[in-house]
This record gives sequence, C-alpha cells and structure tokens, in this order.
Amino acid sequence: ARRSYLMGLLGQGIGPSLSPELHEREAARQGLRYTYKLVELSDAQLDPGRLRELLANAVTLGFDGLNATHPVKQAMATLVDDLAPEAAGIGAINTIVVDGGSTHGHNTDITGFALAMREGLADVRRDRVVLVGAGGAGTAVAHALAGLGVGELSVVETDLARAQRLASSLEGVRDRTAVTVATADRLPELLAGAAGLVNATPMGMVAHPGSPVPPELLRPELWVADIVYRPLHTELVRAARALGCQVLTGAAMAVNQAAHAFELVTGRPADRAAMAADFDLL
Ligand code: NAD
Repeated sequence: ARRSYLMGLLGQGIGPSLSPELHEREAARQGLRYTYKLVELSDAQLDPGRLRELLANAVTLGFDGLNATHPVKQAMATLVDDLAPEAAGIGAINTIVVDGGSTHGHNTDITGFALAMREGLADVRRDRVVLVGAGGAGTAVAHALAGLGVGELSVVETDLARAQRLASSLEGVRDRTAVTVATADRLPELLAGAAGLVNATPMGMVAHPGSPVPPELLRPELWVADIVYRPLHTELVRAARALGCQVLTGAAMAVNQAAHAFELVTGRPADRAAMAADFDLL
C-alpha cells in the first residue's frame, strides 16, 4: 500500500488555511508521509489556459490530489476529467483526486456539511430551513440540505440575484426541495415557521461583526448551524446556545470537508474525532 502522498491547495489568500495542518496531522497519526503544499495563485494564473497547464503540471509532478478554493472552484470543475455526482450538480469542486494520470473532481464542502448535519444535528426536523447567504459556501450548504431531504428551503440574501442563481443551481438536480428567495426583512415570518437556520454569510467573523439574524428571532425549538469558524463562537452561536437551541458550529463543516478530501486522496478512513480535536487546538 502507498505510504507517501503529495497534496496541494490552489487558491488566493490561502496563507491562513488550516488544511495543511489538518491533513498532515491525520497522515502522521496513520504513519504516512504526507506533504501538503500551498499554491498561492497570481491574478495572471487565474486564466483558464494557465489553470489547465497548472493541473497538467501537478499531475506530471506526481501530486496525488489537490484542494481548490476561492476563486477557482468553478474553473477547476471544467478542467478535470470527470466529476462526482454532487460536484456535477453544483458545477464547483474543492477536491481533485489524481489517479494514474486522470483527474476526478469532488465537492467535499457539500459532503462535509451533509455529514456534519448527520452527526451533529442527527435527529432534528428538516422540513423547513432558512439559509442566510448564497455565496459559494451557501450554495454548497444548499445542495447538502437538499440532499438531506429538506422540503422547503428559504434563501435569504442581500443580493437577490445571487439567491436566484443558487435556486437555479438546484433545478433539475434536487427537485424535491422547494426553494424560495427573500431579503432579510422577511426573516421574522420565515423563521417563525422554520425548523432550522443556517448562517452562510461572513457575519460573525472579526471583520464582519454582528449576526445576520437578530437574536430576538431565535427560539429554543429552532436548530442553528453557523458555518463561520473564525471565531467558532460567533454572536449567532452564543445567542442560540444561551436560548438552549441545538447548535452546530463551523468547525463541523471545516473538519468534515478536510477529512473527506483526505479519504478521497488516500483511500483510507480519517479519524474525524482526532481531526476535530486538532482543529480545536489550531
Ligand atoms: P461570499 O462572500 O461568496 O458569500 C457571502 C454571501 O452572503 C454574499 O452573497 C452576501 O451578499 C451575503 N450576505 C452577507 N451579509 C448578509 C446578510 N446580513 N444577510 C443576507 N445575506 C448576506 O462568501 P462564501 O465564500 O460563500 O463564504 C461565506 C462564509 O462561510 C465565509 O466568510 C466563511 O466564514 C464561511 N465558510 C466556512 C466554511 C467551513 O468549512 N466551515 C467553508 C467555507 C466558508
């Protein structure tokens, strides 16, 4: 069996990424040699021709896998040889597996959030969910929620065109989920009838303080998932915990997307509990 792996991350602004530590620590636990290289892309390298060349070079140089992040998740999805079903449905990938010269695209943001929900909010009602934020992460969350069987998904966005694009991306892919789009002024009525709430806006981060949902709209029966993980205990998470809501922090998605990428690249199960403990220390 293989004992040595070469992995990388393509994107911009990736210096603070926790992925190298998460992957390398898990590999060390398993007695593997695993090198995770950050590949910070220049603006000129975002050109599709240059990205195609970069991917071919990575294959030639013996990379076993790559993660892809902002702003190349969509572009890389068009460059790999084939796509896993969840990645084809969204048209964006964050993980590439190199296998004997061919490249396979996956989206472990979707599978990672889905697993985080199944583990961390296992027994909650999922009939009506409000999702705030329809950027790249919110779109992955929406595909995961639809895959989990959410009946009605209300997408709340400042930018309604983005929310509409998210809704279109689910058409023909996840038709059993009814998607509606709305602006934040409708949060009171939407949350009154919802089982759960997911924050996929940057609000709660140090650079974006506050909460996208006023605390008075929360109630103990509403489950709350926040995907922001810097900090882990956002204003929304703290308000929800204080009320006694079931809460999922952003660590769950971050750890599970890394764990699934590790598993795809190595073909070995990851110790998710140990990775979560690492995450808490990083
Ligand atoms: P993005 O900027 O592409 O999208 C954010 C969206 O939220 C935008 O469309 C914006 O219009 C909308 N928005 C902002 N404030 C709003 C408000 N008050 N009400 C309604 N909509 C609002 O960002 P992204 O790449 O989708 O990431 C969003 C956040 O998710 C990041 O800041 C990061 O903290 C988090 N994230 C977490 C994980 C994880 O693994 N846990 C993974 C990716 C991203």
